[in-house]
Amino acid sequence: MRIKFWGVRGSIPTPGKTTVKYGGNTSCIEVETDSGVTIIFDAGTGIRELGFDLLKRKKPISAYVLFSHTHWDHIQGFPFFVPIFIPTTSLKMYAPKAIQDVDSLENVMKRQMSYQVFPISLEAINTMNSKIEYNDIVEGKIDLPELEKEGVTITAQYMNHPVVCLGYKITYKDKTIIYTGDNEPYYNVFASNNQPQKNEEAQQKKKSVLFDDDEEDNIDDKEAEKATQEMNQKFLDFIKDCDILISDSQYTEAEYQTKRGWGHTSFETNISRALAANVKKLYCFHHEPMRSDAQLDELLEKFRQQLANEGKSLEIYMSYEGLELTI
Ligand SMILES: [Zn+2]
Ligand SMILES: [Zn+2]
Repeated sequence: MRIKFWGVRGSIPTPGKTTVKYGGNTSCIEVETDSGVTIIFDAGTGIRELGFDLLKRKKPISAYVLFSHTHWDHIQGFPFFVPIFIPTTSLKMYAPKAIQDVDSLENVMKRQMSYQVFPISLEAINTMNSKIEYNDIVEGKIDLPELEKEGVTITAQYMNHPVVCLGYKITYKDKTIIYTGDNEPYYNVFASNNQPQKNEEAQQKKKSVLFDDDEEDNIDDKEAEKATQEMNQKFLDFIKDCDILISDSQYTEAEYQTKRGWGHTSFETNISRALAANVKKLYCFHHEPMRSDAQLDELLEKFRQQLANEGKSLEIYMSYEGLELTI
């Protein structure tokens, strides 16, 4: 199985002199199984180059496209993914089922390609005979018979983010690869020391991730603390013993203190979760747009040194555009 990173940046593309090494394209990862089935995680701007590469390699193009969520930086490359304009292409796309039908994957894509923002509508693409299938899914094992025949299973799990978001686990033979998509550790939104988040709407959403709407008013601090711990444990169980963990690492721990509730994780938290869950290799992903190559180099060096000093076997890497792994 081969994994290639086509876009590793968070939030917005960042071309320029200071991002040449790690790359400026937004989230897109390709996985190719041993029999040649293509799985794509997220359609940030990195998917544009992947499209050209697939056109050279595969005819006709068929792929599974799994969206962690529909934030812009995970879908904005899709209108520029040239295979969608080719009649023989077949895509099976999956994204977390939104709270309201109006926000289904297909509707979000339609809006992204509406007349005012993009010259070619999704309806027009649908008439070009490329087959694009939209699936709105919930957490759990995804029904993918073609992959299962080959011994590949994919399981989805909800992540903590301001919009419904899924992390994905690929299991193949005795290997496990996890892509978290955007995620933040759960925290107790009722605790008084956890309130740097000023945005009331975002706080409400966060509560509803943890609790049913009608329960929210009656939650006391202890219950909230317990639920928070359970949700974080569920995350650790999901990543337990995995070989490769590709995880949103947008912030340093110091930066995170003023970004709580924005939906992202710090390097330090990723490292401690990876250690707690016996992860073998951690690939930091979704780099902060302001972060330069030099800063990423420096952080990587610092964390490697720390792990070495503590005698830990966890391997840590910074994802970069073009990185290819075989497992
Ligand atoms: Zn993102
Ligand atoms: Zn996001």
